[in-house]
Amino acid sequence: MAKSVNAFEMAQAQFDAVAEMLGLDPFARGVLRWPMREYRFQIPVRMDDGSMRVFFGIRVQHNDARGPTKGGIRFHPSETPDTVRALAMWMTWKCAVADLPLGGGKGGVPVATASLTLSEQEELCRGYIRQLWRNIGPYQDIPAPDVGTSPRMMSWMMDEYSRLAGHFTPGVITGKPIKGGGSRGRTEATGYGVVFTVREAMKHLNIDPEKSTAAIQGFGNVAQYSALGFTEMLKGKVVCVSCWDRGEQAAFSISHPAGLDPRFLQSITDHYGSIDKDKAIQAGYQIEDGDAWLSKDVDVLIPAALEGQITGENVGQISERVRIIAEGANGPTTPAADETLKREGVFLIPDFLCNAGGVTVSYFESVQNQMNYYWPRQEVLDRMDISMTQAFKNVLKMAERQQVYMREAAYMVAIQSVVEAMELRGWL
Ligand code: NAD
Repeated sequence: MAKSVNAFEMAQAQFDAVAEMLGLDPFARGVLRWPMREYRFQIPVRMDDGSMRVFFGIRVQHNDARGPTKGGIRFHPSETPDTVRALAMWMTWKCAVADLPLGGGKGGVPVATASLTLSEQEELCRGYIRQLWRNIGPYQDIPAPDVGTSPRMMSWMMDEYSRLAGHFTPGVITGKPIKGGGSRGRTEATGYGVVFTVREAMKHLNIDPEKSTAAIQGFGNVAQYSALGFTEMLKGKVVCVSCWDRGEQAAFSISHPAGLDPRFLQSITDHYGSIDKDKAIQAGYQIEDGDAWLSKDVDVLIPAALEGQITGENVGQISERVRIIAEGANGPTTPAADETLKREGVFLIPDFLCNAGGVTVSYFESVQNQMNYYWPRQEVLDRMDISMTQAFKNVLKMAERQQVYMREAAYMVAIQSVVEAMELRGWL
């Protein structure tokens, strides 16, 4: 997405287009185009040098017809009310398409986390909750980590909420460390979920997974577990991955026609998802430019790094062999590229379906917290598989019935499901 695009206007335009296709009633449209609630507040923080500084917090609850709102808290300098509104609206659709009993929310503070010391970060996290605690909760709104926030911060936030509420309330927030009430399987959830949807797409398209190949953009959390799932669960080959070289400030790709070993690559990748180039060369892998992943002659492309990567300018580089594009990242395909892919009949698994494994396991985390009973890792992943597979089937059925592109079908499933919940509750 280009920087000049207002994310909320884009989210509203996407919604308007599908509302039109569905012939949605004007009142429902009016309600869903805007968040139901927004909270904005000052957060005074005592800095390490003794001075006071004020930060500005925001929390948006877009729609809670299907259940408590859910979505991350971002600490990022470019956060604005409109980016938070857009992200909250997209969370409503993501939870609805995955059929989780949750609505959509999002929060943020415009700040660069790295500019704060650890104790200042803790004060900011606790201050955020002190301002908001009456408006969140396991049955109201359940935050989670996002850009610039971490599992450790979620623990501080949960602790502050529990102190104010007067009782231990781990289910108020997800993405906590496993020892602090987190769920097993959360780390691998998004990437494995991507692979579950790819497996279902292959069944639909009659592709033999064991003979299939993939190229992946990125090698961070989502990309690593997509690569592992693709090779270990589907028995396919990942022939190319790419990542960002923080020293050179440029992207590069690593490839091998016979297939890469994702576990080895993981062992030579740092915390930020950058692969050690020298060790990759020593292992006999080839280094190519940052765009090389996009033009590989493979069956599946998995953009799993950033938004706005497949564009009107580079969509032509995609090989004719590519049958499936699985959007592991949020918003990796621009509207112009989308038009071309749609025209050429590439099977697209849209982001808010493809990467819903993360929020699904976050939902399981809050369920386990509420039960105070924790499931083994395999149980978490099996439940996630059932949920993702069903979500995929629902969207595919809609696409076939309405003769629409998978992205439009996913929006239709999500919007219809939210509207139905609103009707059942007597809101419409
Ligand atoms: P991450 O920070 O762990 O990894 C990002 C990766 O992208 C790194 O390997 C980095 O080197 C690489 N990268 C950065 N710039 C690049 C470039 N120009 N070319 C190639 N590679 C580049 O992030 P993540 O958690 O894996 O998230 C990736 C995407 O998936 C984001 O869009 C995120 O919003 C989305 N997502 C993540 C989750 C989750 O659970 N982590 C859930 C849903 C969606």
